Amino acid sequence: MRPIGLYLHIPFCRRKCLYCDFCSFPGRTGDYHRYLEALKQELRQRWNPQWQVATIYIGGGTPTVLPPSALAGLLRVIKTVARVEPQAEVTVEANPGTVDGPGLARLRAAGVNRLSLGAQSGADRFLKVLGRIHTTADVENTVALARRAGFANINLDLIYGLPGETLDDWRQTLRWAIALAPDHLSCYGLQVEPGTPLQAMVRAGRVRLPTDDEVSAMFMANVRILPAAGYEQYEIANFARRPRAGEAADGDYRCRHNLIYWRYQDYLGLGLAAASTVAGRRWVNLSSLEAYLSAVAAGTVPTATVETLTPRQAMAEMLMLGFRLTTGPDPDDFARRWGVPLDQVLGERVQPLLSGGFLQKAAGTYRLTPRGMLLSNQVLANLLAPLL
Ligand code: SF4
Repeated sequence: MRPIGLYLHIPFCRRKCLYCDFCSFPGRTGDYHRYLEALKQELRQRWNPQWQVATIYIGGGTPTVLPPSALAGLLRVIKTVARVEPQAEVTVEANPGTVDGPGLARLRAAGVNRLSLGAQSGADRFLKVLGRIHTTADVENTVALARRAGFANINLDLIYGLPGETLDDWRQTLRWAIALAPDHLSCYGLQVEPGTPLQAMVRAGRVRLPTDDEVSAMFMANVRILPAAGYEQYEIANFARRPRAGEAADGDYRCRHNLIYWRYQDYLGLGLAAASTVAGRRWVNLSSLEAYLSAVAAGTVPTATVETLTPRQAMAEMLMLGFRLTTGPDPDDFARRWGVPLDQVLGERVQPLLSGGFLQKAAGTYRLTPRGMLLSNQVLANLLAPLL
């Protein structure tokens, strides 16, 4: 059996947020219905009986704009068609204000054991600037409802570097999030994506973004404040809480699904614009809803592009992803896959990065320091130049 992560994309949202360039749009009930049937069909088309599902991640979009019974039905079909590990991590992304107590209890009963909430900020004025549909009170309420429904593993997504945000504002968001006692926190810097209303607002001078130095200070606040509050950084933007006193010491709240991506393991993405990488072959699905539905209905796989990576490209990707982890890329896995030691591939280029304080050597591998993480794009472009 080959372990695989399964991602299912639900491209529907109540309303489009002003910064969003994900494949998501307001949908109608009829769209939901047809789309879910197509997702199930795509799973049947692509499923390989040699796989075993280690993680399921239903993301979007906002999966919880669908009725909980529809998501439960989707999980039922997955477990019928695919072989799913009994202890599989099953995550659903939700936006506060799109779920209620009974809905959360329904998801929990259907086997969802991890809830990822798009909280984004601890101040209502920033949620408004982003065009989010919820308030901070909705986040607080949803966390409480989720705990009551039996969720023992809750993630909050947060974004820093928001228009008008100061370092103090961001620290306040971190304190607010910590007070909600989630099990995991994802903290990403805001990206102004081309073609979004936010980009137009920035260009027109209607909002002011923090400077690069201010954003760097916000990142450094993450790596100081969150570990001090019991959240261990295990990836550039991700923090998992350590087990509390009296709790099983083996509690691990790192996101197993995302670890599959960062460790360069196989994953199958289903649905609109979903990407998959299996045994060095990568494909991306169609991103037009009608084209996707028609392809699946016609019995063809809804692939838009497919590529087979050269060993060099694959090595570079594995290292790009592996360096996101605070443990760095796994040298044994690297040598086993490519038949060449990691040290040999990185060569002399590590020395100036080590002495410059961007990299450190530990446990037979290299890791980015917090300084290296701040400049990870430049550091990795430099380190991996011969492979790129
Ligand atoms: S909820 Fe998420 S996916 Fe939906 S529009 Fe907002 S940012 Fe985009």
